[in-house]
Amino acid sequence: MQVRAALLLKTQQPFHIEQLELEEPHQHEVRVRIRASGVCHSDYHLQSGSTKHPLPLVPGHEGAGVVEAVGPGVSRVKPGDHVVLSWAPACRQCFYCRKGSPNLCDTFVKPLWAGVMPEGTPRFAYQGRPVFQYCGLGSFAERTVVREESCIPIARDVPLDIAALVGCAVSTGVGAALRTARVEAGASAVVLGCGGVGLNIVQGLRMAGATTILAVDKLGSKEDLARKLGATDFLQAGDHLLEAIRERTGGRGADYAFEAVGTPALQRLAFDACRPGGTAVLAGLAPMGSASDLPGSRITREEKTVMGSYYGSVDAERDFPWLLDRYREGVLELDSLISGRFALGQINEAYAAMLTGTVARSLVVFAADPS
Ligand SMILES: [Zn+2]
Ligand SMILES: [Zn+2]
Repeated sequence: MQVRAALLLKTQQPFHIEQLELEEPHQHEVRVRIRASGVCHSDYHLQSGSTKHPLPLVPGHEGAGVVEAVGPGVSRVKPGDHVVLSWAPACRQCFYCRKGSPNLCDTFVKPLWAGVMPEGTPRFAYQGRPVFQYCGLGSFAERTVVREESCIPIARDVPLDIAALVGCAVSTGVGAALRTARVEAGASAVVLGCGGVGLNIVQGLRMAGATTILAVDKLGSKEDLARKLGATDFLQAGDHLLEAIRERTGGRGADYAFEAVGTPALQRLAFDACRPGGTAVLAGLAPMGSASDLPGSRITREEKTVMGSYYGSVDAERDFPWLLDRYREGVLELDSLISGRFALGQINEAYAAMLTGTVARSLVVFAADPS
């Protein structure tokens, strides 16, 4: 079958929109008609080359759509099901899944992070050459073929463009507060970075009942949305930021400091911005190979905890539907997170807008019935 998709042929180049060949689903695989796919920094890291990946590649890992066809042996979904795609599919059988950390499942990590299905090949091809699919997904395509474990069924009454956000930014952010750090009611917290992940950490803190939620961003224009989502205070990054954070957190620092960008300097700031006995949560995905300078001597003496949060420590099967239930109840705000909707042919504009730092989340949306 022919499908239109965004294709990354070489790093440092724009995405190209091309017709690709898509194979039928193999055993335990599912063809999904994509309805929306979020514009996330991780795909930009592929384009810039800071994430190394075999090319050519179909990017996109924050997708939602409708199951169109299933291969042999598929038991988890059926045609017509609405699904959010998970970029960390869980086998439910490995050491990590049995330990209750399905976000760390290692069954599919090697092939899917290499852009292929577990038996070693991708399902897209361009001019006779195989085309890899990011995270085993490749959701910047009208249709894709993924593992059944990557498909999380959701209720049909949630719009699929809203639901797509749960596939990465919302889970990563809300999960960091509720699942990784398990922030308690009455806590104080600072959130460094108000992009798609940081704004959702703010929401997660509000849901946890944190009473001081200090949001920080380099752009003052993020203040209104941060406050709408739950921030009780806002600081624009600048000189003397650490002092300004401490001034607003009893002179000690916050109980929790979340880093939501993925830069070594902000990771260090998160460490300094939490009080003695507090917790720094590193939720932004820093480029592979980067390192931050966290002082071991102070970690001991000040009894600070440094936590990594990967995909918000969520159990996608449990938490994607749970998050969408909270959306339905009006507890989780998703509509105002969407700053813009772009057609597939405008994907490079969508990434340019993301890089300005002014948007919360943009979506590439697909027609309900692409020809
Ligand atoms: Zn993402
Ligand atoms: Zn597993």
